[in-house]
Amino acid sequence: MRVFNSSNLLPLLCMVSFSIVAADTVSESTVLANDLASPRPNEPVVSDTFINDTILPPQIQWHGASESLLLDKKLIDKSAPWSTPFEQSNFINSPNYHDTIEWLDKLTAQSNMLSKVSLGKSPQGRDIWMFIASSKGAKTPAELKQNHKPTVLVQAGIHAGEIDGKDTGMMLLRDIVLGQKRGLLDDANLLFVPIFNVDGHERSGKFNRVNQRGPVDMGWRTNANNLNLNRDYAKADTPEMQLMLSAINTWDPQLYIDVHVTDGIDYQYDVTFGYNLSNGLSPNSYNWLENTYRPQIETALSAADHIPGPLVFAIDNTDLMKGLSLWNASPRFSNGYGDARHLPTILIENHSLKPYKQRVLGTYVMLEQTLKTLSRHGTALKAAISKDKFAFNDRVTLTWQAETQQQGWDFKGIGYSTEQSAISGNSVVRWNGEPKLYQQLPVIGKTKAKLKVNRPSAYYLLPQWTEVIERLAIHGIRMTRLEKPTDKILQQYQFSKPKFDESSYEGHQRVSVESTLSPLELTLPAGTVKIDTEQPLGDLAILLLEPQSTDSFLQWGFFNPIFTRTEYIEDYAVEPLAQQMLKDNPALQAQFNAALKDATFASDSKARLRWFYQRSPYYDNQYLKYPVYREQ
Ligand SMILES: [Zn+2]
Repeated sequence: MRVFNSSNLLPLLCMVSFSIVAADTVSESTVLANDLASPRPNEPVVSDTFINDTILPPQIQWHGASESLLLDKKLIDKSAPWSTPFEQSNFINSPNYHDTIEWLDKLTAQSNMLSKVSLGKSPQGRDIWMFIASSKGAKTPAELKQNHKPTVLVQAGIHAGEIDGKDTGMMLLRDIVLGQKRGLLDDANLLFVPIFNVDGHERSGKFNRVNQRGPVDMGWRTNANNLNLNRDYAKADTPEMQLMLSAINTWDPQLYIDVHVTDGIDYQYDVTFGYNLSNGLSPNSYNWLENTYRPQIETALSAADHIPGPLVFAIDNTDLMKGLSLWNASPRFSNGYGDARHLPTILIENHSLKPYKQRVLGTYVMLEQTLKTLSRHGTALKAAISKDKFAFNDRVTLTWQAETQQQGWDFKGIGYSTEQSAISGNSVVRWNGEPKLYQQLPVIGKTKAKLKVNRPSAYYLLPQWTEVIERLAIHGIRMTRLEKPTDKILQQYQFSKPKFDESSYEGHQRVSVESTLSPLELTLPAGTVKIDTEQPLGDLAILLLEPQSTDSFLQWGFFNPIFTRTEYIEDYAVEPLAQQMLKDNPALQAQFNAALKDATFASDSKARLRWFYQRSPYYDNQYLKYPVYREQ
């Protein structure tokens, strides 16, 4: 049964109150306090602001200092024409693509601090717009670079339904160029992509994100081709991602912020954020993020009555006591990609059960403080990035395994019980909306290196693998080509036991292999691509080219043709061939006899013939061999 109380009427009451009260003297929170006897802040309620409220856990009423960011009078007073569509809707709607860009265009026309550039077209033909905010109105990457200020790139809507960053950015840009916040650009630049997944954003509806409290209409998670852009950083299949990677290379930000909304479990935190860990590929940037950035952001959020937290992932969404998890994201994800290319990257995950207004305001506080912190500590950040880019560590971690962390976590959670469900036949979690501190929950993190490789000085990639070469170029990895055939002593991986995923994933048939590395002498053809690993993107090249790396081109299936044997020998030919081989090489008989001790082999006539074929000069000497060579 639904529980109704006065909060159900909240949007209506706000409108009525503002229309009959002199808004100059009455702030929104005063109106609420006067008109709504209950519930009190922090009291869990069932709301019906959003269509899915009735099936979600109770909402905790929230009011906080950050509400002062919403301009007085904007709801009713035409003298506040610069209210955003989000504000005009009483904080529950987010504008569509057309209205978003139209509003931002009008704002841009008001100010010489703003300009707009298209990163290019989406698959459905929409421009992906980026707004450039700088004190002197830079319009090009060269102009921006000339001011020598640190730059943050804020990207909203990679998952288009998780659109908090868009409405935040619109308010923040307005307050910078028309309000009192011009100073935010005195020592920093802001690049703002209001909608990254533009096509997904227009697949809009009320039923797109069932676990999320607003906005009313939400976009779709994946792009028009049903591809998840936040799994596409490493493989870079989508035009959207290719355009974003190109923008990163061209505009060269020092900080990259990817704004999401997360579900999973209920907790008190409304704004959570994180990045790869200290043992990742960018430890100096991590130190800046953890020890300079995080404390300042958390202080600002707390002062504005938000509850900041690290990224929250429960080991088991139905049993909090099993603990929380940490991870070093691989480069298919924004935060893993940023770590691999030494671009400090922050994943914001606002909590989906918090209402849209609270989430947008929390994001605003975070982005405003980001500009302040970047202004004060940008030089240190640049130094950290530079150290990471040129560290060229001898060993590079490819995969991680879980370990229990020494320190547990005092977790600001929500009380819950489990009930037996007649629907599922299993237990179901019932969150009760009551704040509860869970002391010292265990934290299990994928923080222990599992597989490491020695850093090669270079890779050589044969020229026929054009798609891989193109993708490496899109990442900005520097490559040279051999002008003539060149003799080399290199290393090559030989694969065995390829295992293909049963279902397609992100449009790919992924594969994993066992591999052994062997030296070989060969002549590389002209046009072979050389990838030096002593370059700023050298670590990224290693993660893309080492076959055991989770997001290598090999595992994504870009080299799948090498797993097909294309030449064969008939039984009538292999039989006399085998006899000739045994005659020419008596030692072979002993090896064959040893092989026959395996009963499975001995009973498999095809395998017996293949045994000889594989040892003959007719056999395909490229079969299961990786066409990417390592130079030590
Ligand atoms: Zn997301």
